[in-house]
Amino acid sequence: MYTALYRKWRPQTFADVIGQNHITETLKNEIITGRLSHAYLFIGSRGTGKTTCARILAKAVNCPHVHEGEPCNACEVCKSIDAGTALDITEIDAASNNGVDNIRDLREQANFNPSETKYRVYIIDEVHMLSQGAFNALLKTLEEPPAHVKFILATTEAHKMPATILSRCQRFDFKRIGAEDMSERLLYIAEEEGISLTLEAAHLISRLSDGAMRDALSIMDQCIATGKEIDTALVGEVCGIADRAYLADTAGALLKGDSTKLLQVIETLYENACDMERYCTELIHFFRNIMVTRSVKNPEKLIICSDEEMQSIRRYAEKFTLPACLAVIDALQQTQAQIKAGVHGRTAMEMVLIKLASPDMDARDESVLKRLAALEQAVQSGAVVQAAPQHIEAPAQPQAAPAAVEPPAEQPEHPAEEPEAPAPVSEATPPAPEEQDAPEPVAEAEPEQEPALANLRQWPEILQELFTRNRLAWTILNGTTAKAVGNTVIVYGTHPSIADILAVNINAEDVLAAANGITNAQFTKVISAKDAGALVGEETPAQGGEDPLEAFLQKAQEGGIEVNFK
Ligand SMILES: [Zn+2]
Repeated sequence: MYTALYRKWRPQTFADVIGQNHITETLKNEIITGRLSHAYLFIGSRGTGKTTCARILAKAVNCPHVHEGEPCNACEVCKSIDAGTALDITEIDAASNNGVDNIRDLREQANFNPSETKYRVYIIDEVHMLSQGAFNALLKTLEEPPAHVKFILATTEAHKMPATILSRCQRFDFKRIGAEDMSERLLYIAEEEGISLTLEAAHLISRLSDGAMRDALSIMDQCIATGKEIDTALVGEVCGIADRAYLADTAGALLKGDSTKLLQVIETLYENACDMERYCTELIHFFRNIMVTRSVKNPEKLIICSDEEMQSIRRYAEKFTLPACLAVIDALQQTQAQIKAGVHGRTAMEMVLIKLASPDMDARDESVLKRLAALEQAVQSGAVVQAAPQHIEAPAQPQAAPAAVEPPAEQPEHPAEEPEAPAPVSEATPPAPEEQDAPEPVAEAEPEQEPALANLRQWPEILQELFTRNRLAWTILNGTTAKAVGNTVIVYGTHPSIADILAVNINAEDVLAAANGITNAQFTKVISAKDAGALVGEETPAQGGEDPLEAFLQKAQEGGIEVNFK
């Protein structure tokens, strides 16, 4: 009988676990020094090795011949745990056993001494699925655990875990397995199995499985079943993505604005039963690689692909501008989400590619420029200020004051109540100039008012956090400084790609997540100062002098206008 590769090659020791050294080293150390926790929480996406590590840990704490933190895998204890027959090791899938009774049973059982091993070990998978009652029951056990019990909780969704449980566990965050580590492992397994697997095919499988070893080995299994040599063509066939030339074809057609060719490519893929979501994902990767190639000095370090494909990427990197890459990636990501949400794949891909190939593709940015220019003009002329009270959601009290009762436009004597409402950033706005009786509500503001910008002092820490979330964005943003105005972060720096990198949703989201995590603030936007400087009509970003963006944002804010650069 054929054993699935995933089962056959499930790591038996911590040393075999790929890409999680930060975790396995700590666990080994705890076993060597005997400083074990009574509860562990393993967090990470599927296929990253949580359950595997839990089983190795269960063996290591119980194996009588443990050596340098690793189980021997030869004794009765190790063997029975591997076989799933050990009486004292209990694996629970919380997805199907989530009731309070399940946990009560567990608690009663946990009071008895283990029958065969040193510790009773409870491995609770998908622990976030437990009901509230079950969590409460579990919490009681975690608060006063019997000395002979170890809990290993595993979850893909840490944010669904009650804080009371989190605080009682030693937490380990499993990373997605890096493409390079994974390719290496796949090649090793193929060699041991006597299977012919090309380097390019290993890279392709790694990319397609997105950091989940189980998925990668399942693709390998499907390839092996065909009995052929595993190359990119076979992987493509098995995964429904066929020959990868269609990626370059798509890019070429986009460049020429050749809609007919694009429809042909899709048609061919569709007829070959190619999965449209995968096509979309592959295309995102392709353009991401073009973008990286344009942005950094040694793209090879960040791109896992064959030399042949690298050449093709370099060729297109000369032709696609960074904004064009970003526009394509952005649009494809939205399409990917739509397809995931159930939109018809072929139609979605046809729509997005034709839209991207149309001549106004580049107009996206331009139209934003135009809108901003119009906005700025409106602010300068004071016209927009009339609308201000509607935009401001003044808290509670002014209920009667704005919009409804008084005609707002003609009453510049009363602006005092309004500007207070949005309460921007820390640097206090100067008291509203009530008696200045300037004729135009906006003109009055220009010279003396300080810009409501605050230095973001924790920026270095935020960048450090970004490093772990998004290496590419970090590469570009490293060495920058930042300020905050309202809920917007403004990034200052000299790298030419700062604005472009921030224009991509995933990058902006990562920056914002890092910023909000570190500062506990609620930032919702991040933009580049330099780009915004150009947006407001000045060629060079002011060096030393007044920052045009600051001036612009201030004006907008005074006008009660929310500036959205996206
Ligand atoms: Zn053993």
